[in-house]
Amino acid sequence: MFDYLIVGAGFAGAVLAERLASKGGKKVLIIDKRNHIGGNTFDYYNPDGILIHKYGPHIFHTNSQDVFDYLGQFTTWRPYEHRVLASVDGMMVPIPINLNTINKLYGLNLSSDEVDSFLKSRAEVKSRIVTSEDVVVSKVGRDLYEKFFKGYTKKQWDMDASELDASVAARIPTRNNRDDRYFTDTYQAMPLHGYTKMFENMLGHPNIKVMTNVDYKEIEDEIPFKKMIYTGPVDYYFDYCYGKLPYRSIEFKFETYETETFQPTGTVNYPNEHPFTRITEFKYLTGQKNAKTSVVYEYPKAEGDPYYPVPRPENAELYKKYQALANETRNVYFTGRLATYKYYNMDQVVAQSLTLFKKILSQQNDHYVNGQKSQLIQAGIVGRD
Ligand code: FAD
Ligand code: UDP
Repeated sequence: MFDYLIVGAGFAGAVLAERLASKGGKKVLIIDKRNHIGGNTFDYYNPDGILIHKYGPHIFHTNSQDVFDYLGQFTTWRPYEHRVLASVDGMMVPIPINLNTINKLYGLNLSSDEVDSFLKSRAEVKSRIVTSEDVVVSKVGRDLYEKFFKGYTKKQWDMDASELDASVAARIPTRNNRDDRYFTDTYQAMPLHGYTKMFENMLGHPNIKVMTNVDYKEIEDEIPFKKMIYTGPVDYYFDYCYGKLPYRSIEFKFETYETETFQPTGTVNYPNEHPFTRITEFKYLTGQKNAKTSVVYEYPKAEGDPYYPVPRPENAELYKKYQALANETRNVYFTGRLATYKYYNMDQVVAQSLTLFKKILSQQNDHYVNGQKSQLIQAGIVGRD
């Protein structure tokens, strides 16, 4: 009998498997319907010996020392700060928009103060910031919005930025300095030997069994377990009883070129040309040396693996109905990007699962004495589960 069946071997599931096994002393079975662990962060060496990310580029960054230290138990880190250029008006300019972006694009030589006034003079005044369009035009005005955001967002989401929550475009800041890093988090690093290796280390505990190529619905009646942690799409769990939650998918096209480098930086975004949104060259991310180089082109699409929840009000409403069902489902915990329908980065998913682990631990230590809830933290004083 397993104490826990964990559905999904991505970050959400692997963190809980590791914690429950090594700190909770639980017997865990973690499964995935894919033929590998690591979820969307799965990486592997292609036939040319280059480490690539099967489900698109994954760059680790966090402000949480807890998350960084926790994962650091399972990998050595390689410091890496991601930089992105956007192809706009025939030029390659930094995105997020910064002082250099404006100066290069408009042939100016503004200082930080001057760029503030420049942007202020173009920004549209909005009484409420509701959509992704609002976020951008209220900061940088319509011209820059159209150059950098309008086309990219339409390709990525197949909808206008005015139809998407503000939180989507708010991921991309605007800077009046020359900082051209994509992220400014305190910790920015890649697992030295890749994500898959790190997951192998996380799941190596003797109390953890791993099974791939299996959908939980095929085995849940056959394998005995006490509780479940579910990290797949929440609507699938409930047989789409309220209808499908929209997710956006991507087709990844990989190419290997007989040249040492293909492009000037890790990622180049193409807001206005081509059907793909961006090209990422893996060697920048991994630091690998090779005479050849591999890149991935991202073509967003509606059908396919569910990669992105679509943040907009009606989807949040629909999710709430599933969330209510999830809350009522005894002995099943829902966590992760798909099961909680949140546009989360890796570190947020890790933090969410670490928090859930603490909650599970505290629940199993909750004890009722004459109807009064008391916390007996020392294992052995109260029976588990
Ligand atoms: P997943 O990794 O999706 O894992 C869920 C797993 O559950 C999957 O492996 C799936 O096969 C399995 N599963 C689902 N249903 C079932 C079932 N019925 N039975 C069995 N198994 C099932 N984050 C960053 O921090 N930095 C980045 O640079 C970054 N880049 C990204 C780029 C792309 C293109 C995408 C799509 C995401 C990116 N992310 C990035 C986000 C990151 O991928 C997620 O935050 C993280 O991987 C989510 O982990 P998870 O465990 O919740 O979900
Ligand atoms: N975005 C854009 N132009 C860019 C970069 C981002 O319009 O050059 C918008 C777009 O809507 C995108 C969102 O900002 O989906 C979030 O971008 P991010 O790079 O964080 O996306 P992710 O890496 O999660 O795909």
